[in-house]
Amino acid sequence: MEIFNGIQQAIASKINNQSTISNWKDWKWQLKHSISTIEQFEKLTGINFSEEEKGKLEKTLDKFPLSITPYYASLISQENYKNDPVFIQSFANANELNVLNTDLADPLSEDRDSPELGITHRYPDRVLFHVSNVCAMYCRHCTRKRKVGDVDFVPSKEQLQKGIEYIKKTPQVRDVLLSGGDPFMLPDSKIDWLLSELSAIPHVEVVRIGTRMPVVLPYRITDNLVNILKKYQPVWVNTHFNHPREMTSSAKEAVRKLADGGFPVGNQTVLLANVNDCPRIMKNLVHKLVQNRVRPYYLYQCDLSEGLSHFRTPVGKGIEIMESLIGHTSGFSVPTYVIDAPGGGGKIPVMPNYIISWSTDKVVLRNYEGVITTYKEPDHYENKFCDRDCKNCNLELNLQESDEMKSLGIEKLLSDSDKSISLIPENNERHNRREE
Ligand SMILES: *Cc1c(COP(=O)(O)O)cnc(C)c1O
Repeated sequence: MEIFNGIQQAIASKINNQSTISNWKDWKWQLKHSISTIEQFEKLTGINFSEEEKGKLEKTLDKFPLSITPYYASLISQENYKNDPVFIQSFANANELNVLNTDLADPLSEDRDSPELGITHRYPDRVLFHVSNVCAMYCRHCTRKRKVGDVDFVPSKEQLQKGIEYIKKTPQVRDVLLSGGDPFMLPDSKIDWLLSELSAIPHVEVVRIGTRMPVVLPYRITDNLVNILKKYQPVWVNTHFNHPREMTSSAKEAVRKLADGGFPVGNQTVLLANVNDCPRIMKNLVHKLVQNRVRPYYLYQCDLSEGLSHFRTPVGKGIEIMESLIGHTSGFSVPTYVIDAPGGGGKIPVMPNYIISWSTDKVVLRNYEGVITTYKEPDHYENKFCDRDCKNCNLELNLQESDEMKSLGIEKLLSDSDKSISLIPENNERHNRREE
C-alpha cells in the first residue's frame, strides 16, 4: 500500500512528531493541519522561496486565500515542483494578480441568475445550490475565486432553508446540483439534514453533489458519509481530477466507496496550461478514471475569472485533445468539451467537425483516422408533422404526467409546430428600423 509513504510520514511528523497513520487518514485532522501560509508550506514540503518571491506570494494570498491539505501537499514532487501539476493547482502564483480587462469577477453571471442567495437558476429544469463556500484545498484555477474562503458567506441553516424554499416553490426544478465551495465540507449531520429536506420535495428527481474531496482529501469519503448519502438515492457525484498523478491509492479507495455505494461518479476536468494541456496526459487521465469506475463528464475550457489568465489555453488546444480522444479510445472515456459562456449563456459543447459535406442524398463524413466516407440518406422517409398533439400521434409517448414542452432556441426553429423563422437579438437595429 502506498498509504503513509515516506513523504507522508515526513510531513505528518513535522506537523506533530506523535502523528500516526490514523491521524493522517482522519479528514478532520487533515483539515486542522491544512497549509494556509507560505511558512507552513515551506516547513512541511521543504520547498523554499526567496524573500522577493515571498513578497509577491504574500500579496497574492491577501487577495486569494491558500489552503492545501497535508495529503495533497504530499503529492508534490520536491525536486521538480515548478512543473508539478499538484503544485501548480494548489500553490499561489504571483500571476494571479494580473487582472486583464477582459477578466470578469463573475464570468458566468451566477450572481445575476440568482433568484435567492446561494441559488443559480440558469437552465429550465435544474439549479445550482451553493451550500458551502469553503473547500479543503483552494484550487488556484477556481472559477469562483472571488467567493471561496470568504467566511462571511458560509451559509447558515436559515440561508440554506431559503434555498430549499425556492426549490420547493419552483416545480420545474427536477435536478438539484449541490456545489459551493465543497458540499462535503459540511458536517455529516448537516448533509443528512439537507438531503432529507431536498428528497422530501416531490418534484426533485435527482440530487447531484459536486466535490473535489476524492482528489484533495480522499479520507473525507468515510463509510458514515456513504451511508448517509445512500438514504437519499438517486444521488450522483461529480468530482474533479485534472491529472493522472492525482489518482493515488487513497483517491482510488474514495471513488471505490462511492461507486460501491451505488452512486454514479462523474468527473469534470478543467483544461489548464502547464497542467494537462497535452493529449497524452488527458488520455492517460480518462483511462485512469474509467478504470476506477469514474465516467469523464465534462472537459471545461478555463473560465474568464480574474487571476486565471496564466491557466488559459486557446480553445484550439481543447479541440486538439478531443480529436485525440474521439474514436481513439472507448466512447465512455470521452468527456464533452464545453465552454461556459461568459454572461451566463451556460455550457456550450465544442468539438472537431466530422461532417464534411451534405446533399439531399448523401452526407460526407470523416472519421478519426481521416477516412472520408459517405452515408446514403434514405430514399423514402415520411416526416411526421409534429404539432405537439401527442395524444393523436401514432408514436407512443404515453407519459403519465406529460408536461407541456415549450420549444426553445434552435430546437424551436426546427419544430413544425412553431412558426418562427429566425431568432433575432433584442434591439437589432435593422429590425427596430422596420418597426418604425
Ligand atoms: C453546469 C451547471 C448546471 C448543470 O449543467 P449540466 O449540463 O446539467 O451538468 C446547472 N446550473 C448551472 C448554473 C451550471 O453552471
